[in-house]
Parts: sequence; structure tokens; C-alpha cells
Amino acid sequence: MVSTRWRKILIEVSRHLSRLVFAFAITAVLVQFPFDYIESFLYDVRVRLRPAPKPSGHVETIVIDDFTVKTLGRVPNAIEFKKLIDRLGSVSAHTIVSLVSPVETVGSLDETRALAATAASNEKFVVALDDVPLGGEQDALKLSPPFDKVRVASAPVPVDRNIFARDDVTRRMMLAYQGLPTLHPMTASQFNKDIDATFKAKGGYSASAFQGVFEYLKSDQAYIQYAPTGTYKPTSYTAVLNDDTVLEKFRGKIVVIGRDIQTTSKDYVRTPYSREIVAMTIVELNANMFDTLIRNAAPIQAPPWLNQLITGLISYLTVLVVLTLKPTSGLLILLSTIIGYFTVALVAFSAGDYWVDAAHPFLTVFICYYFFIPYRLIIENRRSWEYYQKNKLLTQVEELKTNFLSMMSHDLKTPIARIQGMADVVRSDPNPLSSRQTEAVDTLRRSSDELLEFVSGVLNLGRIESKAIQLHLTSKDVNELVREVVNKLDYLARSKHIEIRTELDTLFSIKFDVDLMRQVFSNLVENAIKYSPENTSILVTSEERDGWVTVQVSDQGPGIPKDELPHIFMKFYRSRNAKGSTIKGSGLGLYLAKYFVELHKGRIQVDSNLGQGTTFTVELPTA
Ligand code: ADP
Repeated sequence: MVSTRWRKILIEVSRHLSRLVFAFAITAVLVQFPFDYIESFLYDVRVRLRPAPKPSGHVETIVIDDFTVKTLGRVPNAIEFKKLIDRLGSVSAHTIVSLVSPVETVGSLDETRALAATAASNEKFVVALDDVPLGGEQDALKLSPPFDKVRVASAPVPVDRNIFARDDVTRRMMLAYQGLPTLHPMTASQFNKDIDATFKAKGGYSASAFQGVFEYLKSDQAYIQYAPTGTYKPTSYTAVLNDDTVLEKFRGKIVVIGRDIQTTSKDYVRTPYSREIVAMTIVELNANMFDTLIRNAAPIQAPPWLNQLITGLISYLTVLVVLTLKPTSGLLILLSTIIGYFTVALVAFSAGDYWVDAAHPFLTVFICYYFFIPYRLIIENRRSWEYYQKNKLLTQVEELKTNFLSMMSHDLKTPIARIQGMADVVRSDPNPLSSRQTEAVDTLRRSSDELLEFVSGVLNLGRIESKAIQLHLTSKDVNELVREVVNKLDYLARSKHIEIRTELDTLFSIKFDVDLMRQVFSNLVENAIKYSPENTSILVTSEERDGWVTVQVSDQGPGIPKDELPHIFMKFYRSRNAKGSTIKGSGLGLYLAKYFVELHKGRIQVDSNLGQGTTFTVELPTA
């Protein structure tokens, strides 16, 4: 006993273990493939669905826009550039970051020199270059004379061109290359006390001051926490020149200057929000970079072990669902797992800047699903084949049984009729019989009647099973048939001192098979007499209502237990009480009655209260 229990537990445990091993094996193979494109796509979806981050308020942008070009009739020249720097200097902008190189600015030699002098003397002014100096080669990042004294800083724009998603989208920023920080972390540290404190403690730039920084090819990188395009409203270059705008708004701010005139794709990037070539200006991108660091809110990537664990668990769940649940509920569960997991990932991303892998968990669902569905199909197929074979055998046995019974019953009918005939001959013989002889002949006659009834039942069953029964409809008053049946069975009732009362409403004739319905009513009244105790009464009623003729047979017999009610119309069913008593029966009567009534498109029902009586209701359609 104990050993079989343990064996069962052992089998169950090993089954789960093998599923677990399968699931984690699939995971182990799957994580070898990076799926960067899909992961980045799902990352972008999260960026779009997340509530947009609020700007820190420390960054302002100025653009050479279509309005500037239209007003000046050209792009701003050296004189105008100098004027812009002077104006921003006059309101003490914190840092003036120019994405436009003064080298490219048009002007006479004097004008250019004047611009160079202003730019070099303004210590807030810095030209941002999309370049990184190699270690120890910082001077390589110098503008050509006369701008060689102007401060420059590297502010590269990494694009996922040949790496990661390879979809030309800018998602990352560079904080340092070979240990040398770029413009952004150094500037941002002056707006965030914690970062500043860490820098001071470490004696300069340190990646540990920022959240979400990761190392990639000798550089420190972080994902940009984007706000949608248009979040940073730019001020037009001309507006600043003409003082059309409140200069004061640039006081103490990081001011980024750039272009937005759609002359070159270099002035724009594609973002997680949009894959268009001009999705966002480099100016606004820089504003996003500064703010990501000032807020210190770069998305943090979950460690690989956590991603692998999640993928493994989802693989296991998929295997479990595919192997044990029904296909539709399995699909529903998998679908809700995918949706549920993505919702959790989205919440983690929105609320905690936490980025968990979504590509691997999703792909593992599909892979495990397609891997295990054929396996499941093979098992199911084998099972249904076994069922089919068993069913076939059962049907054959059933057929054999019915054929045998019909054959036998048919052959029994003639000898029974002969016995009945002989009994009648002896009973009507003019020579008087002794009382014992009379009793013997009467018993002979009664027993042969019972036998004949049983044989007819079995024969009818055979006819039903071979679908040989056909309705012979004739138009007749149902009451007439009911009266005939009651009269015929009255002698039987009298022998038990049972009174059969009738309450028959006047009915129109309807079409029905008289022979079959006679058997139905006879069976119901006979049962009522058979199962009722002596000195009780039986009530037979009829009425017509709402297109149905209803005949009810109620008795004051023992009733039928509730748990047996659903079975009494079944083939060969006899209740426990009937089986235990001397009351004879085949258990076929009600089965045949139900079959015959339903052949007429009618209904038969039973109501019974234990110890109080039983009522059978037969309804036949009038049309
Ligand atoms: P049987 O030949 O046993 O009467 P039936 O198919 O006519 O077979 O009835 C099935 C079972 O339903 C009976 O064995 C009996 O237990 C129960 N039954 C039928 N009619 C009555 C009734 N009027 N009162 C109590 N039990 C009944």
C-alpha cells in the first residue's frame, strides 16, 4: 500500500522533473540568440506606453529653423553667431552647447576672428562634437584656427546601425570613452547634488554615480529616458537675435543650439517613438540626454540571470499547459500569460525604470508550444484509437446480444401461445376440474401471460435497436384508448382492491399510433397497480392545453427515490426496491414508453414523492 503510494509520488515527481529539464534546456538554447531586434521593438513599445517623463526644467533649446532662414534670407553668419553668444552670455546661461560648429559659419576674416575671440573668451560656450577622442589624444578634438582656442567637448550620438537592433534608432548615449567623460555627465552633475557628491568623492567622473550605466566596448553607456518629440519647445534663433523672446528664460540653463531646417539627415535621429528619418532633432535628443542624467533615470537592464530565470519559468509553464490542459483553455492561459507578463514588464519599466527581457519569454512560449503540441497530439491520438477499438468491440457485443434476444424471443412466442391455448382448452372443458387443477391452470395462464409480455418487450427492443419501428398514424380520441386500457386492467386492480378513477376532459381526435400508445398507457397503469399497496386508488386524467394532449397517471404507491428518478427510463433499469421485492418486471416498460412517446414528438415525465405516490405525465402534440 505504502510502496504503491510512494511509487505514484515518484512517478509524478520524475514527470515534473523531466518537464522542468526540457523547459530549461529550451531556455538554455534560446538565450544563446540575442533577438536584439525583437527586444528593442518591445522596448520601444514600453517607451511609448509609459507615461512621458517630465523635463527637469534645466534645459532650453535654440534652433536655426525655417523662420530664421526666411527672415535672414540665409543661415546665420559669423556676426549673428557672435551676437547670439553675447546675448546668452549677458543672461549668464549655465552652459551654451553649440551643435553648430563656428568653423562652418560664413563671414569675412575679421568677422570670423571676432566670433572666435567671443566664443573662446566665453567659458560657458562649448562646441559639441559627434566624435570621441582616443585615449591620450584629447587634443585631436580641436577646431581649426582661428577657433583653436574655443572649448570643444565630445557628445557622440550612438545609433543602432550595425549593433543591437540594427534599425538605425538612437536609444543609447555615451557617458565616457576609455575613461574620458563626454559633455553630458559632467554638465548634468552640476544640476544633481547626489551625482556631484559622488564625483567629488571619487575625484572626478565615475560611472557609479548614474543608474543604468553599462560597459560596451571600452565605453560607459546608458539608455536615454526619452520624452516624446516636441516636449522641449525650441526658441527660434532669430527670436533670440531680435530679442523677440524673453532672454531671461536662458538664465542658469543648459542651452543647446542646433539646426532644424531639414537640409541634412545628420541633424535628426530616429527614436523609440518614431522610425521616421526626421523623428527628432539632435538638439532635442541632447536635451533628452541631459535630462536623463540630471533626473538620473536611465533605464536599468535586468541582470542576465534574472532574464534567464523568467524565460525558464515561462517555458515550464508553457510545457505544463500544453501537456495537461484542454487546447482552448491552454491557449487562453498562454495568451493571458503573455499579456500579464508584458503588463508586469510595462509597470516595472514605468514605475522603476526597470527593463526586463520580453523577447525571450515571448519566443519561448511559441517554441515550447510548437515543440510540445505534436507530442501531445501523438498521445491523444493513441488514446482515441484505444477508445475507438473498445467502442467498436462494445457495439459488436451489444449487437450480438440484441440479435440473440430477438431471435430467442421470436422463437419463444409460438410455444407460449400454444401453452396459453392449451390452458384455455383445459379451463373451458365441460368436465369439472378439481379446485387444485383450476388453480394450476390459472397459474399456468398467468405465468404464460407474464412470459409473453416479457418476450414482447424484448422483441420491441430489438425493433427499436434495428430502427425497424414505424409510426402508423390514425386519427382517434385519446380518451377512448385510455378508457379501453383502464377497462382491460380493471380486473387486475380489483384483485388488489385498488380503484381506478378517471377524470377525462373532452378532447378532439388527434393522430397517433394506437398500438404503440396502448403499450405506453398500459405500462403506466400496470406499473401503478403493480407497485401500489392494496386498498389504494389510481387517478387517470386527460386534458388538452396549448397544443398538447396531456394524460396523467397518479398512484398512492411507495414513490421512487430522488437519486433513482433520472435512471428509470433507462433500458433494463429496475429500482433497488423493485429488484428486492417479488414484483416482477423486465425494466423495459418505461424505456419503451419513452421511446414510443418521443417517436410521436411528445414528452414523458415523472414526479414522485417517496412514500406518497408517483405521477407519470405523457404529452402528445395535437398537430
Ligand atoms: P419494470 O418492468 O421493472 O416495471 P419499468 O421500466 O416499467 O420496468 O419501470 C422501471 C422502474 O421504475 C421499476 O422497476 C420501478 O422501480 C419504477 N417504477 C415505475 N413505475 C412506478 C410506480 N408507479 N411507482 C413506483 N415505482 C415505479
